[in-house]
Amino acid sequence: ATPTSIMVGTGRAAELGVLFRKGEALQALRSAEIVVMDKTGTVTKGRPELTDLVVAEGFDESEVLRLVAVVESRSEHPIAEAIVRAAAAKHMTPSTGLEYSITNFESVTGYGISATVDDRRIDVGADRFMEKLGLSVAPFAQAAERLGDEGKTPLYAAIDGKLAAVIAVSDPLKPSSIEAIRALKAMGIGVAMVTGDNARTARAIALQVGIETVVAEVLPEGKVQAIRDLREGGKRLVFVGDGINDAPALAEADVGIAVGTGTDVAIESADVVLVGGDLMGVVHAIEMSRATMRNIR
Ligand code: ADP
Ligand code: MG
Repeated sequence: ATPTSIMVGTGRAAELGVLFRKGEALQALRSAEIVVMDKTGTVTKGRPELTDLVVAEGFDESEVLRLVAVVESRSEHPIAEAIVRAAAAKHMTPSTGLEYSITNFESVTGYGISATVDDRRIDVGADRFMEKLGLSVAPFAQAAERLGDEGKTPLYAAIDGKLAAVIAVSDPLKPSSIEAIRALKAMGIGVAMVTGDNARTARAIALQVGIETVVAEVLPEGKVQAIRDLREGGKRLVFVGDGINDAPALAEADVGIAVGTGTDVAIESADVVLVGGDLMGVVHAIEMSRATMRNIR
């Protein structure tokens, strides 16, 4: 590619909200064979809402929500924000945390969080977090399966070492996801999704947007390995992601595309940035690459 054709190409892309941080990406994208997307914040908005809270026998719903929200007020995970907002909407004020003593706070990335609130031990997180703590989530198996099939993420809360509730959060799709994935497939490009979320939830979301290949329940450090597996040896692979967790995968891919609404760490690890977070930007970037490379031959 001549410097001029690349400048014209990147200029046109910028008008569509696609910023090329590295010129080589414009050349590499034309031969993309598979696009792998992170789920939360990439295919979905990354702003979940609390939708369900089912308590075990002997537990009070608002008491569970209050205690869980107090602990989540110390976490910056989007799930935590959803729970804190839901509690605030019910006029609980966990965000200040002032009226509670919160000690032993611990966040286990990819699993969940724990703390002691006024002498009560609270654990909140994924099923694998409860299992790690030696708690069986079997009593909520049916509820969790139903929630997962609805595309919601089931979480569990334990109070003083007893399973107290299953909580669900739902993260809406981005308006551009279905169209972008359809367009990529029409261009002959494979599309896959990688996520730390629950397998049933991931499959339900993938079904809604037309993705057939899903790798779920991936721990933060596992995304790079997931990409290597999806590459099947030699495929030209593009990864699209937004989170801190996605930085190594963005660097590992042939081309890393960061969602501009995501974290700075992700943006710094990427070759291309989608300014407004619109997934059609992935399609535009590849089209632009194909057109630019055609012009110079
Ligand atoms: P991703 O952002 O790819 O969905 P994460 O690795 O951030 O995945 O989290 C994976 C899972 O860990 C979440 O789906 C959730 O079940 C659990 N988890 C992480 N942080 C929290 C938290 N603050 N509160 C409750 N659950 C959490
Ligand atoms: Mg994400």
